[in-house]
Amino acid sequence: MKNLKIPYQLPEWKRAVIKVGSALIAPGNNFSSMKYMLAIANFVNECLKQEKEIVIVSSGAAASGRAMQKNIPKNIPVSIPRKQAFAALGQIQMMQKWSGLFDVPCAQILITHDDINNRRRYVNAKNAMKELLKLKALPIVNENDTVVVQELKVGDNDNLAAHVADIVEADLLVLCSDIDGLYTKNPKIYADAEKITIVDQINDEIRLMAGISDNPVATGGMRTKIEAAEKAVSRGIDVIIVNGTRQETFIELLQGNLPGTLFKKYSNPKAAKKHWIDHGIKCEGTLFVDSGAKNAIIKKSASLLPSGIRSLEGVFSQGDAVKIVYREDGQEQEIGKGIVQYSSFELEKIKGKHSDEIEPILGFFSCKSIIHRDDMVVKK
Ligand code: GLU
Repeated sequence: MKNLKIPYQLPEWKRAVIKVGSALIAPGNNFSSMKYMLAIANFVNECLKQEKEIVIVSSGAAASGRAMQKNIPKNIPVSIPRKQAFAALGQIQMMQKWSGLFDVPCAQILITHDDINNRRRYVNAKNAMKELLKLKALPIVNENDTVVVQELKVGDNDNLAAHVADIVEADLLVLCSDIDGLYTKNPKIYADAEKITIVDQINDEIRLMAGISDNPVATGGMRTKIEAAEKAVSRGIDVIIVNGTRQETFIELLQGNLPGTLFKKYSNPKAAKKHWIDHGIKCEGTLFVDSGAKNAIIKKSASLLPSGIRSLEGVFSQGDAVKIVYREDGQEQEIGKGIVQYSSFELEKIKGKHSDEIEPILGFFSCKSIIHRDDMVVKK
């Protein structure tokens, strides 16, 4: 972690994902305002002229849609269907504003967590987005808020942008915020808060600063940005948090300087499939394993065999993701996550058994391991 006073160089990049939040699209409850969009669009146009490739992840559909409804008071809570309706109204408005600001054609992409969860749809989204980049178009992505509700959502566009950066294999993820980067404390409350210029490793100290804890001095709004940064750096993508409300930010970026906080990419990133297992797919259940299986997974890089499973929770099918947990004296230790070769119904019958007994018990055999090592991520 370093705090540098001199301008720090931005790492070289060719393909970036830029996340623009609702506060920059609909500031002051003003739908799809040009106030901040213009500077961002000028920056993007300049980058495109330099043969760089850009994907925008734009929030603000719901905020713009709501702001359009002048007869609905600003601060009253609204129902879920109404929020979905706002998103549908605002999305078109927002895209209209964006597409008038660029020299290249814009493409609208609306995705949901399901599209990331499902490997086939994930690969389809990847192919389409990469094709758009080849066509020199500008993909503008948002979550499809009209068709998903809370539990089926990525939920926030910081994390969505990290998924998109992975999908398009970007080398830079730019998270535009309304503060200048990550601070040691919330700069809006604490005058002695200091800005961090470079983060080499996202550890507990950084998570604490961002409020991924009960820290009372946590920096507001940073939580999802750090989650997104963790996803992206582990995939070999540099991440910067910058202040998108300042025009100077984009001038500095064009000069190759770093106007915010840089989270450096890991030098040995996770393979795409392991990253997808870790961040792309939701767990449908839990396998509780014994100490032998725990040690074999952690110390010997082994697969999980049926003999090591004590019990399970949840209803899941072959191909779903589950958590692997070791439980002793009421204490739980999460060991990892992986893709199961058998359903929960089948596992109830073969848990604790030797692999040779799978076929006699189930009447068929697909794999001697329940989770193959290649389909597993282990928590360090
Ligand atoms: N997808 C939401 C919208 O367009 C925004 C989610 C977010 O800002 O994180 O309104």
